[in-house]
Amino acid sequence: MVEKIWANSGDSHFLEPDDLWRESLPPRLAELVPRSEKDPDGEWETVHIDGMSFRRKLPTSAQQEFFDASSRAPGAANVDLRMKDLDQEGIWSELVFPSLGMWSSSFRTPEVLREALRVSNDWAWATIDQAQPRLISTAQVSTLDIDDAVHELERVAELGFKAVFLPVTPHPLQVDYNRKEWEPFWTVAEQAGIVLAFHIGTDPIDLSAGASAGVVFRGPGGAVLNYTETTFGGQRAVTKMVASGALDRHPDLKVLVSEGGATWVPFIADRIEEGYRQHHMAVRPKLDRTPREIIYSQVYASFQHDQSAIAAATSMGYHNVLWGSDYPHMEGTYGHTQKTLHDLFDHVDPTIKHRITIGAYRELFPHVPATPTTA
Ligand code: MN
Repeated sequence: MVEKIWANSGDSHFLEPDDLWRESLPPRLAELVPRSEKDPDGEWETVHIDGMSFRRKLPTSAQQEFFDASSRAPGAANVDLRMKDLDQEGIWSELVFPSLGMWSSSFRTPEVLREALRVSNDWAWATIDQAQPRLISTAQVSTLDIDDAVHELERVAELGFKAVFLPVTPHPLQVDYNRKEWEPFWTVAEQAGIVLAFHIGTDPIDLSAGASAGVVFRGPGGAVLNYTETTFGGQRAVTKMVASGALDRHPDLKVLVSEGGATWVPFIADRIEEGYRQHHMAVRPKLDRTPREIIYSQVYASFQHDQSAIAAATSMGYHNVLWGSDYPHMEGTYGHTQKTLHDLFDHVDPTIKHRITIGAYRELFPHVPATPTTA
């Protein structure tokens, strides 16, 4: 019998109830959260959100089947069933990103977004985090209003959250992550020991322009172009955090980029290192440590299938590589996790294997106990 490999996952997702916001917010705010009205012929829908409404074409049945398949894992929206899935797949603890939060960039009224995310956080804490430390949910904060973000981060830190989900680009009406306005947020996160969890593919979507999530390119190769494109936002977010000095000023702040692979980290460290070497005379503020030191000590990256990811740790000196299942998404490993883990790690040095499957995750979340196989 093949030995079961246990791994922690730095990248998982949970489907909240569709009506969570509408059911939990006062009526005045509930009527502003996203709501879809489908045409009788099923080809178009009208989306109402925060006082705006626009029309967009619904996915074809083939596309819909693809999306539905993403939520077919039994525990996609159920904590008890998820525990069985985790045991079956060999996943010990997982960082759980939200799903409803993909609408965040479409809100325009700070109060609506603030209250909706507060509802999401309270719901996640009461539902998903009852399974701590095997399920660790990421809190959500408004990136539309930074004061709101700071206050909510303080509140969820008090509750016990260990990570906060950040889109790779903040709300289109807010300044970018390299700006000083974000400084109070970094300070709270660092002091509370909260991991900043960027998930790739979370650039703002202009739904009013009829855009669909993740559709940037059309034509030959479009699907592959769009999939590949999703990864770059995470690299930009890290570059902003390093180049602006945010991570340098907050050496205990830890950043995780989920689902974006791992070998980009040594690559981007080279580029930032070179940028700083060539242009340091023009750079404000100065960095006290080299970009590489900052990145290699404070930035973590998760991958699920990438064949070269392990080489970041074995050949490039970058040890903050985490594995992630991306459960329950189509891109993830549900149903073939053990095969994936064996294919990836059977011929890898045990120390490196342990670091990537177990150790790096426990460095981010020290309250997670050792897995059954290492107990
Ligand atoms: Mn994911």
